[in-house]
Amino acid sequence: MLNSNTSCIKCVDGINTCVYCAGKLVRNGFSRSRKQRYKCKDCNKTIVENYTYNACFSNVNKQIVLLLTEGLGIRSIARILQISVSTLLKRIIAISNRVRLPVMTQESSYEIDELCTFVKCKSKRIWIVYAFERETKNIVGFNVGSRTNLTLKKVVDKVLNTNPYAVDTDRLKNYRSLIPQCIHKTVRFGTNNIERANLTLRTHLKRLNRKSICFSKSEVVLNAVLKIYFGSFA
Ligand SMILES: [Zn+2]
Repeated sequence: MLNSNTSCIKCVDGINTCVYCAGKLVRNGFSRSRKQRYKCKDCNKTIVENYTYNACFSNVNKQIVLLLTEGLGIRSIARILQISVSTLLKRIIAISNRVRLPVMTQESSYEIDELCTFVKCKSKRIWIVYAFERETKNIVGFNVGSRTNLTLKKVVDKVLNTNPYAVDTDRLKNYRSLIPQCIHKTVRFGTNNIERANLTLRTHLKRLNRKSICFSKSEVVLNAVLKIYFGSFA
């Protein structure tokens, strides 16, 4: 997956010019792993000729997103990209902070559904609640949390803020107190789109696979992974 050349992408052009500003480089001691370090005379940034760890490659973040949404777990991604698990987790959270969910349109129709999964141990069951906009087919909002009205409310309120003309849900009683009766629908086949999205989600994200030993160890990372997933398909 990674570049076959061993040198870092930052200094592919040779070590005479700075990759940031094309300034002149001078030797500047050694890195902790005893590698020659260079310093730019103009911008003062330092560069090492051959970095020890693969996480410095500029295309790593792109590959993380690609592998994450293709049904691979954290440890398999770390093995394939030859980076450490802790670096990978940090990167996932950093990438997710830059992801923006699609903008919601006013007066549209939505489907809301909840997906059951667990974090830390199989006995701690939680909900992933999310909203699907019918016209754009985008996931426009989601929330992860305990199986309570509070978790549902965050997504429902976000949808209600856009004055929707219809909100379809399954027959879960909790929705009745949250969505005004005039726009709330629980008809058969009304949530077909989002039920299909559930299946896709369960296939694409390793941590949501059924009948496997894989599951999320942390709610923060689960949140980050979902945000990247929903954001990258927008
Ligand atoms: Zn420079």
